Amino acid sequence: MKITKITAYQAKIVTARGGYAVSRGRVVREVDNTVILVETDSGVTGVGESCPMGTDYLPAFPGGVRAGLDLVAPVVLGRDPREISNIYYEMDKELLGHPYVKTAIDMACWDILGKSAGAPLYKLFGGMLNHGPRARIGLSAGPAEEMARMLGERQAQGYNHFSAKVGDDPDEDIARLGEITAVLKQGQTIVADANRGWTVHGALRVCQGISHVHNVYIEQPCDTYEECLLVRRAAPQPMILDECIDTIPSFMRAWNDKAMDCVNIKTARHGGISKTLQLRDLCTTLGIAVYIQDVWGSSISASAIAHLAASTPPELFLGIWDPIGWNESDVATGGPEMREGRYYASDRPGLGVEPMMDVLGVPVAEYA
Ligand code: MG
Repeated sequence: MKITKITAYQAKIVTARGGYAVSRGRVVREVDNTVILVETDSGVTGVGESCPMGTDYLPAFPGGVRAGLDLVAPVVLGRDPREISNIYYEMDKELLGHPYVKTAIDMACWDILGKSAGAPLYKLFGGMLNHGPRARIGLSAGPAEEMARMLGERQAQGYNHFSAKVGDDPDEDIARLGEITAVLKQGQTIVADANRGWTVHGALRVCQGISHVHNVYIEQPCDTYEECLLVRRAAPQPMILDECIDTIPSFMRAWNDKAMDCVNIKTARHGGISKTLQLRDLCTTLGIAVYIQDVWGSSISASAIAHLAASTPPELFLGIWDPIGWNESDVATGGPEMREGRYYASDRPGLGVEPMMDVLGVPVAEYA
């Protein structure tokens, strides 16, 4: 089997509720997604995508995906997409770094491998360990009463795990978290995700201010790894690292420093399914719990993370992010099914999704 053509599409997805707000005044009102189709000489086609969350979340941006494809797509043409390490080796030789660029091709190759094997991807990732993993839904930053109301709405939709976007004024965040956590029901948990927004002293004031609440985790409190480590060493809450864990070496450093209890894994940050699998298996082997997420995306990346979550040991799994719950539109059908706050991966071969060609429209690039 050989790759004969790669076609790229640009798809804008509007976010729900007027936008998704995180610390430092960042608001995601629309995401710019790049979807690719990888065609082969055997007639099997794979689909993948890479969708940075704007330009100020990670060192990644939507135009960078498409510019990077100009470099990596030509070097994988003519190669067997089922030999994914080989594909990755060639992409790495051509382009140093830029994992978010390689994500879409890696994802499409896994889709082809699954379709070729006639198996849903969770079977290739180790098998079904976690049937119906629980979803985590984000609560956009806003006034305390608004966030508490949003949490109530999401509870009514079946969600049991929440991520509150905080990270600006510590006093407001203490009050906000007090009001939000009062709405939580027995067994429900919440993450206070600062998205790098707090200073060290601000983060420590918040951790002290909410120390009486038992079901709160702290996520990526500060900008740098070193600042997060200072907070970790003084705060009583379980610590999740997100933005600052991007590679295996960055994880190993944090592991050696005992810097976290959990890592928020995001497919496009690490470079696709292949790299995410490595990190997930390393985390769970070492007893570090994981969130399985992507930076953003449609039902295509939601399907990838659903298969990854389904094959993750449940005792070390904290939640899967639900991007679909924040999107006004989609670019594929057949994604994971959400029921009662749980995400069910498709049993169809590969990712299990079908791109909506009428929505994707005219390609922005073709490589053949
Ligand atoms: Mg986060």
